[in-house]
Formats: sequence, C-alpha cells, structure tokens
Amino acid sequence: MPLYYVSNEPNEEGAHVVHRSTCGYIPSGKKQTFLGNYADVHDAIEEAKKIYPVIDGCFYCCYAFHHKKVV
Ligand SMILES: [Zn+2]
Repeated sequence: MPLYYVSNEPNEEGAHVVHRSTCGYIPSGKKQTFLGNYADVHDAIEEAKKIYPVIDGCFYCCYAFHHKKVV
C-alpha cells in the first residue's frame, strides 16, 4: 500500500496538500507530516482532515481528490 504525507505549509489556496510518498512534488524535509499506509487515497484524505481543516489532493499523485477541498 502507498504511504501518504500531508504538507505542513498550505498552498496559495490555503489548503494542505496530500501526496503519495513516491510523488515528485512532495515537500522536502520537515515540511510534511506522515499520515500512514493506506490502500485508498480517501482514507489518507480523511486522516489529513484530522490535522488540517482544509485539504487538497495533489494534482500529480492524488488527482481524484484534487480541488475536492473540505473546509
Ligand atoms: Zn503529489
């Protein structure tokens, strides 16, 4: 199962972006929080929502959830 991370710094739209560990656009260093190992990206999004109120899926690795922000 893929590992997922959420960025600690919001993007220009104020959303914290969820990435797979294999994504080339994942923030480097400590600018990300490890979410866990999920078969479904939806579960990773749900976990991220416990940490940050506004979440977005990465355009490149979580496209199904891109711009499906939950406020
Ligand atoms: Zn990504």
